[in-house]
Amino acid sequence: MSLTGSTVAEDLASLERCRGSVELAELRADFLAPGEIGAAARLPALAGMPVILAVRRARDGGRFAAGEAERVRLLRRLAAGGFAWVDMEDDLEISAAGIGAPPATGVIRSFHDTRGVPQDLEGRLRGLARRPGELPKAAVTVNGCAELLELLRAAERTRDLPKILVGMGEAGFATRVLAARIGSSLCYASPADGPAAAPGHVDPRVLAGLYRFKSIGASTAVFGVAGNPVGHSLSPVIHNRGFAALGIDAVYVPFRVDELAPFLEAARLLGVRGLSITVPHKEAVLGHLASFDPVVARLGACNTMVAAPGALPRSAMQTNAAPVGWHGTNTDAEGFLAALRPVLPELSGKRAVVIGAGGAARAIVHGLAESGCDVLVANRTPGRARELAERFAARWAPLDPAAIEADRPSLIVQATSAGMASGGVAAATAGAPEDPLPGYRFRGDEVVFDVVYSPRVTPFLARATAAGCTAVPGLRMLIEQARGQFRLFAGREYPRELAEELAATL
Ligand code: NAP
Repeated sequence: MSLTGSTVAEDLASLERCRGSVELAELRADFLAPGEIGAAARLPALAGMPVILAVRRARDGGRFAAGEAERVRLLRRLAAGGFAWVDMEDDLEISAAGIGAPPATGVIRSFHDTRGVPQDLEGRLRGLARRPGELPKAAVTVNGCAELLELLRAAERTRDLPKILVGMGEAGFATRVLAARIGSSLCYASPADGPAAAPGHVDPRVLAGLYRFKSIGASTAVFGVAGNPVGHSLSPVIHNRGFAALGIDAVYVPFRVDELAPFLEAARLLGVRGLSITVPHKEAVLGHLASFDPVVARLGACNTMVAAPGALPRSAMQTNAAPVGWHGTNTDAEGFLAALRPVLPELSGKRAVVIGAGGAARAIVHGLAESGCDVLVANRTPGRARELAERFAARWAPLDPAAIEADRPSLIVQATSAGMASGGVAAATAGAPEDPLPGYRFRGDEVVFDVVYSPRVTPFLARATAAGCTAVPGLRMLIEQARGQFRLFAGREYPRELAEELAATL
């Protein structure tokens, strides 16, 4: 865990808060206030665990802005304090003894590239150590999946080399959680209640608690969600909590995916066995599937991929590398129906209005039509409503409150992004009204389902509840579609009690 307080007291306090989750601390002396340097030399004696000393330069992503002579002076002042390791860059021609460190202090010989993954990462890693016993470290910004793939290939080619390898930034996040899988001796983390030492750092309590970092090894099955953006996805919480509850040796990681082809090759190298696919890749991913369920063809979209066993040469990176041959399916429609069932168990012959004509609406119209509902699709852009309705033998209308009232639906499904909290996927629609059907007068006996899950209660759903309707929030569908994925990933049922707990607390 990186200590990024401005005082030693702050560092010790944050170490205390995270103590159960970390095994090694890194004093980032470049974050310390000038008056704290004297006290910092005593930190190893107070930390109760091994401590790395680092004074990171601004050009390497740190805060130390004075010159090299000053930095070496600072290292010398601190090094006598009994640090387990001192982190020195590859261009610093100096040994541990040269800065006055005790013989027991090891050297991490590092290089940082905040611009991207350098071309010859393998060569750089192999050339880093200045003296026997030095531990090479590369921390490089990962700008996208092509670079993630480069980093993983370098990791695979340097499996024989003890090292620290870190992919910085959101696209490199998996290299942190899966440090053990890529052959990195360490994963750096920063507490969420202080400044992050580098982009992409996760709180050590999240790493240890949610991702069960300490138990990730060669036999751990890796799953994940591929999307962009993906940082706010709730899927890692849903799936990792499920794996933990059932004692399954598996981890679920968010992957920010800009390009599918290099990502899927990276996923193969990591041995990823299953993926949730989300915006904007649900359609484009069809071109990468070896096989798919009929529902994928019907919807033209895939939200779940499972690696089919067998075919490709295994990666040398771990023993259970995922083979080629992704099988695609889609759990959105079944997730929607499962979320609806407790309040509306019988759909056959019921009248339903679906507002929206995007991807979510398509899965919902499919689910409702298959269940024997009489569906009316209403959308802001009427042409899209018509297109969707014709595909599933449904009726369509413009987004007109009077027309919908006249249809007297038993079920209204709000399947647009209206009402979604800003910062979410649909923030681009900012400025649009939050309620997609402000003039609609609820009778009070309708079931009203809103697919939006952030916020939990949208203005539309709040209005429906106030009118006496039975309301179903989008979080229910999110959890149920994830439970369908979990069944495919884990081969087991997602615990019902945990699903209820998440529906109440997420
Ligand atoms: P999409 O394909 O981009 O479609 C967006 C739909 O929303 C279009 O029909 C669009 O109408 C309509 N729309 C957007 N803003 C509107 C407004 N202010 N008033 C009226 N209509 C508006 O998006 P999507 O993938 O279907 O996702 C829609 C929402 O469902 C998102 O909030 C997403 O997070 C949520 N979702 C939830 C779950 C779940 O499990 N709960 C699953 C999937 C999706 P036009 O055609 O006129 O542009």
